[in-house]
Amino acid sequence: MHVIYGGTFDPVHHGHLRLALEISDRLGVDQVSLMPCHIPPHRGDTGASSGQRLRLLELAIADEPQLRIDDRELTRAGASYTADTLRQLRNELGPDEPLVMVVGTDAFAGFDRWREWQQIPDLAHIVVVRRPGPELASDGVPARLLAERSAHDPDALRAQPCGLILELDPPLLDISATGIRGRIADGRSPRYLVPDSVWLEIRRQGLYGACPAGNF
Ligand code: ATP
Repeated sequence: MHVIYGGTFDPVHHGHLRLALEISDRLGVDQVSLMPCHIPPHRGDTGASSGQRLRLLELAIADEPQLRIDDRELTRAGASYTADTLRQLRNELGPDEPLVMVVGTDAFAGFDRWREWQQIPDLAHIVVVRRPGPELASDGVPARLLAERSAHDPDALRAQPCGLILELDPPLLDISATGIRGRIADGRSPRYLVPDSVWLEIRRQGLYGACPAGNF
């Protein structure tokens, strides 16, 4: 079973890393692939470049064999659509290998606005991780899909290559990349919210307005 967990990772933090390990444990897989996405240029102004986000991810997972990085969306020119990425992965994995995409409830709530969303269940399973915030609208497409395609346990995902939706409710750390960027810009330390290696590199490169000579 191949599991991908996408995000902007601007920067990667312990909330992401902890969730990726929880997913790996709960689905019983050896590895989860973290897949950083392309950020449109207008967002890049305040955040880090693709190369910088990738470098921070590499440092964050350096000692963790359960996590790996799939940088295909960064190396592709321009925006990446999830359906294209899943199609490419499906071609590589062949028709029978289960492929799983992990998304938060916040992202899944807008699923029917994703490009070619109708194709996605034919390419992969979806694991929806419950995040605090509004519930799915009961009369919306995402809630209907969830009801129609619901898997009751991770073993069901192993029995077919795609098409099921599994809800997981793992413990989540209350950390956001937005909060970390704001903290650094204010001259406050994000220590213990991100791995030390990540914070060192952020300071070394002066990312997010960090002062290279400031306090650890
Ligand atoms: P931002 O604050 O810039 O929006 P973020 O911290 O929410 O960033 P993203 O990189 O956008 O992180 O998120 C990637 C994925 O990780 C999304 O599916 C999101 O729901 C999830 N995620 C983000 N923060 C956490 C957290 N603290 N715990 C678990 N999952 C998280």
